[in-house]
Amino acid sequence: MQDQLITLAKMQTLDDEIGRYRGLQQELPKQLNEIIDAVEQAMANMLECETVHAEISKKQRALELEIKAHQEQAKKYAGQLAEIKNNKEYKALNSEISYLQDKISGIESTLLELMEADSDAKEKVAASKAELEKAETRKREKEGDLRHQIDSLETQIEAIRSKRNELARTLPVAVVKHYGTMIKNKSNQAVAFNREGSCGGCGFVIRQQMRIELQLMRKLVYCENCGRILMNRIEEKEETEN
Ligand SMILES: [Zn+2]
Repeated sequence: MQDQLITLAKMQTLDDEIGRYRGLQQELPKQLNEIIDAVEQAMANMLECETVHAEISKKQRALELEIKAHQEQAKKYAGQLAEIKNNKEYKALNSEISYLQDKISGIESTLLELMEADSDAKEKVAASKAELEKAETRKREKEGDLRHQIDSLETQIEAIRSKRNELARTLPVAVVKHYGTMIKNKSNQAVAFNREGSCGGCGFVIRQQMRIELQLMRKLVYCENCGRILMNRIEEKEETEN
């Protein structure tokens, strides 16, 4: 009977391992997607920063052209001033020129503000490029490894499962059947250790009589609440597992 218990405990250890791999089958593709998404996100962010920067540059160029046009116009008016005899016309043209000069200085102050926005935008472009590079490096370093791990999980699970099935063949069919049902229905746990007088699976208190039976190891003892196969810890080292 002790052999059976040891075998069952070993089988549970293997099923725990399978459970961990199943967890990885959920988790690793998520990690992979996160890494790929991060690159796409960083790329989109960088393009947006570049667009903002390009728009500012475009505005700057347009305003510079506007200044140039106003300056030329003002110069033209200044040239005409010499030819004007009429005082009223002279005044009118003069005020036209000062109007243009006001406009020019207005645009120049807008340009100053834009210079600041331009340097901010440049910084953002540089930062977003650095972010993108970081994300790409991470992808380069991890993607292959993750894909390889994901691809090999099923093989690893299969190998563990065949080891477990080999162990199962040494047990009575009814015990294996019960074990399998528990694995399937009780969160991948068929074997529960006596944890200070309670079932390690569900916490149900083990009756005194059953605790004696656990020590005697003459027959299999099942938790009265969850049905898991109960046993006392056989080896000390298994304590470190959970
Ligand atoms: Zn239980």
